[in-house]
Amino acid sequence: MKITIDPDLCTGCEDCTEACPSLFKLGSNWIAEPLHDSVPTDLEGEAKKTASLCQFEAILISE
Ligand code: SF4
Repeated sequence: MKITIDPDLCTGCEDCTEACPSLFKLGSNWIAEPLHDSVPTDLEGEAKKTASLCQFEAILISE
């Protein structure tokens, strides 16, 4: 599983970084970044849950 952030949609609101700091960090340009190239298996549920929290739909999950 892979997380991609759409930089055109992300507003840097920090909802994802606060909800799941083990998967997301805020980059220096105030755009969220995934912490892992591939989501650890035990965090896949958390990744999907956090993606659904993003009110700007900027978090994309792919298999
Ligand atoms: S919740 Fe969405 S808009 Fe907010 S920082 Fe995370 S990816 Fe960006």
